Amino acid sequence: MTDTVARITNWDDSVLEQDILESISLDVPWATIELFAALVRLSGSPEERKAVDYLIERLGSWDVPYRLHEPECFISIPLEATVRVEAPDGKRFRAKTTAMSVSTDGRELSGELVYVPPKLREDVADDWSYGLDFTGLDVAGKIVIADGMAAPGRVIDVMTAGALAGVFVNPGEAIHESICTTIWGTPDLDSKDRQPTIPVIGVNNPDGRELIDLAKQGGRVAVSTRVETSWRKIPVLVAEIPGGCVPDEFVLLHGHVDSWHVGVGDNATGDATMLELARVFSQHRDRLARSLRIAWWSGHSHGRYAGSTWYADAFGIDLARGCVAQINCDSPGCRWADTFNELTAMSETVPFAETVIRETTGITPQTERPPRAGDYSFNGIGISSFYMLSSTMSPEARAEKGYYPVGGCGANIAWHTEDDTLAIADRANLRRDMRVYAASVLRILNAPLLPFDWRRTTQEFRRTIERYQQATGDRFDFRPSRDAVDALAAALDRFYESAPAHPAPDAPDARRFNRTQRRLARLLVPVNYSRQTPFHHDPALEVPPLPDLAPALSMRHAKDGAAERGILTAHLMRGQNRLVWTLEQARELIDGASA
Ligand SMILES: [Zn+2]
Repeated sequence: MTDTVARITNWDDSVLEQDILESISLDVPWATIELFAALVRLSGSPEERKAVDYLIERLGSWDVPYRLHEPECFISIPLEATVRVEAPDGKRFRAKTTAMSVSTDGRELSGELVYVPPKLREDVADDWSYGLDFTGLDVAGKIVIADGMAAPGRVIDVMTAGALAGVFVNPGEAIHESICTTIWGTPDLDSKDRQPTIPVIGVNNPDGRELIDLAKQGGRVAVSTRVETSWRKIPVLVAEIPGGCVPDEFVLLHGHVDSWHVGVGDNATGDATMLELARVFSQHRDRLARSLRIAWWSGHSHGRYAGSTWYADAFGIDLARGCVAQINCDSPGCRWADTFNELTAMSETVPFAETVIRETTGITPQTERPPRAGDYSFNGIGISSFYMLSSTMSPEARAEKGYYPVGGCGANIAWHTEDDTLAIADRANLRRDMRVYAASVLRILNAPLLPFDWRRTTQEFRRTIERYQQATGDRFDFRPSRDAVDALAAALDRFYESAPAHPAPDAPDARRFNRTQRRLARLLVPVNYSRQTPFHHDPALEVPPLPDLAPALSMRHAKDGAAERGILTAHLMRGQNRLVWTLEQARELIDGASA
């Protein structure tokens, strides 16, 4: 049984893999990085178009079929910001504003500056989702100053509290660029009202400490911003190398071409990696079973994943029918990134990803749940997904350098600043990471049976439910969820036992086995990564595991209030129904397939 699953997840074609890995060269990728290192690739800008034209020219030269889409999307470019102490000759501080915040068109707003401390919540796991603690503070009509980058969760808190504007204190010397909306991609009727309604400003740490001192003395500041937010055409470039055997099944490899400043580590190195993979896989195209789509998105930085979200919308049914996996490529090949310690992978893909990385690099990766970020615009459709950021520095290396956490560039704090230049890219690391991506893509393209272990998913569900059960104690019973997980796990054992032994990818039993896996993804990914109905996009805020059940973690705080407890219980009952019904459908699907 375990042997059967290992045979499926560890599948490789070592001869072809060797040929492909040996075809990888640094020539094209490094030339691409050098070219991109001179281009500020703001979404929809002429310099970004130069980068896209270069990719198109290269693809054309290798006869790789491609399509350039130019959807009109909602894009926001931060231009400038000012902060000064409101007093005669008041000191001015260096400042930046953020994408999707309100523009004052250069006019100053002034108000009392109020410091609001962070609220540490136990039900969120990522740094970007922590909110602010307004207990005892009235900030209406005032300007809030808070620690941390202008993350959407904190910006919402400042908006909701009725503040005039928010000033966010970055952790170091730099002011990191960011986007502060929770709206994922272009707004729709359900999400449009979440558009930020206040000016948002970032300052660096020394200036921020000075401003916080001023706030504690009841000081006043004047702030202004200029942000250009509009509907504009952005490029979405998609290459497709058709598979020879089952071309309707495809892998989506993707990353963003737009950048903050010249964005070398984030994400010229990723763009170069994908271009080299297009070259190499097209060279070996007659040996590929499934199709490979490679997409370069714009709108990632300035439209909250507008490009990938548009693609998920425009090709939603197509993706639902045929996509076997989505692989994101962001920030590979960066300086000093010698571990895979923060490798994101959905549970079913973990054994596969661990094997391929160990075999290609000799490094044992540490995998974690994909956060709600990084062009994962396909969770609502339900697609097995792995990788987002690539190799990264070890925690020890970061501590030694005094680095704080950032969201890319292999943990280099040049991320989202003017300093993300050619110095951030590293040839040896890039070569290694391109090999990782190539081997990963090949194994999914050619494995007769998709190399995923869905038993890992049920194990994850069991751990999640156990944690939520501990939080609710006897106030809510998750037994129906546990029973449904057990029944699905037993069905999965039957599924893998009945796996065809040595099929070709186009053999009817392999087609059926893989179709069942795709359908499992359409059921089990959304219930674990989305609160929305299929084809809709969750806000850009953390989605905890089995999100409908996650409010269980706050049960202990609701102990004394009947109303609060009643609301929470109703929420958990509905959430549990969704989960149990989904798991039942998954089990029936499998029993139909292995009968
Ligand atoms: Zn990035």
